[in-house]
Amino acid sequence: MKKDETGFLSPSQLAALSSAESELFVKFCPGTGYRQSQPEPGSRAVLDPMWGPIVATRDGWALDESIRHHGSSGGTLTALAAFLLAAGKVDAVVGVTGSSSDAFGNDSVVIRDSADVGLLSGSRYSPADPFTSIRDVATTDRVAVIGKPCDIAALRSLRDADASKLPKIEYFLSFFCAGTPGWRGTESVIDELKVPRVEIRTIRYRGDGWPGYFTATANNGATARMTYEDSWGKTLNRHLHTRCKVCQDGMGVHADIVAADSWDSDERGYPVFDDGEGRSFLISRTSRGEKLLREADGRAISTLATQLGRLRAIQPSQEKRKKFAAYRAIGFALGGRSMPRFRGFSRFRWIATAPREALAQALGSFRRARADRHSEKLR
Ligand SMILES: Cc1cc2nc3c(=O)[nH]c(=O)nc-3n(C[C@H](O)[C@H](O)[C@H](O)COP(=O)(O)OP(=O)(O)OC[C@H]3O[C@@H](n4cnc5c(N)ncnc54)[C@H](O)[C@@H]3O)c2cc1C
Repeated sequence: MKKDETGFLSPSQLAALSSAESELFVKFCPGTGYRQSQPEPGSRAVLDPMWGPIVATRDGWALDESIRHHGSSGGTLTALAAFLLAAGKVDAVVGVTGSSSDAFGNDSVVIRDSADVGLLSGSRYSPADPFTSIRDVATTDRVAVIGKPCDIAALRSLRDADASKLPKIEYFLSFFCAGTPGWRGTESVIDELKVPRVEIRTIRYRGDGWPGYFTATANNGATARMTYEDSWGKTLNRHLHTRCKVCQDGMGVHADIVAADSWDSDERGYPVFDDGEGRSFLISRTSRGEKLLREADGRAISTLATQLGRLRAIQPSQEKRKKFAAYRAIGFALGGRSMPRFRGFSRFRWIATAPREALAQALGSFRRARADRHSEKLR
């Protein structure tokens, strides 16, 4: 079901659900919130209040040069997908790719041959339901899934509640997520590039370098492109779904492995986006994820030890959102918006570090929600 620009189902879509569907929706839709994941009992994972359960951290990239170049931050997720298929550890990998029928759309795909993993490579900064095609996979098949933190949380909780209609999910792979821009985000970038929307054949948001360019290819083969700093930093991130602005889980706490951009940082400690050879910051969250990274190291990916502490400098927006999301949510809720419930995420832990900013975020969200309601009434 296609959600609207805000990321929420519209009242008419909600009303059309049967009572069984509504029950499933409320129980598993990550838009309504979810629980923090806890470290596996008996494992060496520890729960970091900011970054979630952690077994180990490392930098990594695909050994295959073309996978590394084509991917978002070194193609590590694609390389792991290829490794799992080639080693016979799974029968299929389920993830998302640019739609074959609509240049602006995204399709959920089932990949069964390691030669086809390139389809998965790269970030799609627009709404995507990566797991709809899991229904096409036999329940006897073993799969790995790749999705956003919220996709993974929803699928894991559905699997834990009732695995009978799903294939055997062996690996949950994810990435850091600053939020999904609505469709208008992509349209705005295309408009800024001054390419008529109807003439677009394919869109790549980044990759082919690190971070690479937002690249639109027209039907006649002509390309227009924009830097990552401009496309993501100045346009796409202004179109984030409201749900994403209050999200506590930009780091994929329910995954076995998560990948993030392992940017270098400048002397002020801010990430730098100079184009280079891709590198992911990898976190194993479960012993299963850690085992996979060890097995793939030297066969499909290359890794280097790195410290968790680096994340503060290279992912400042994740840290900021995590600290203030709860206050934004309070502001939105007081302004009349229904908000997701995140349980066990130590949401109010950071108030003492920046009480004024917390208040400012709450007030800003309250005003925004009130303004939105006012303009809805006028429509
Ligand atoms: C919406 C969004 C927000 C992001 N925010 C951050 C961030 O704040 N910080 C950060 O470090 N990294 C962020 N990333 C992730 C980053 O862009 C890289 O994807 C990540 O570092 C992994 O790189 P890779 O080269 O290993 O992945 P690749 O080998 O290029 O594989 C990417 C995988 O992601 C899947 N994927 C792509 N887009 C989507 C989507 N919309 N929904 C579900 N699955 C998708 C693909 O199917 C593929 O399997 C974000 C990505 C997205 C899509």
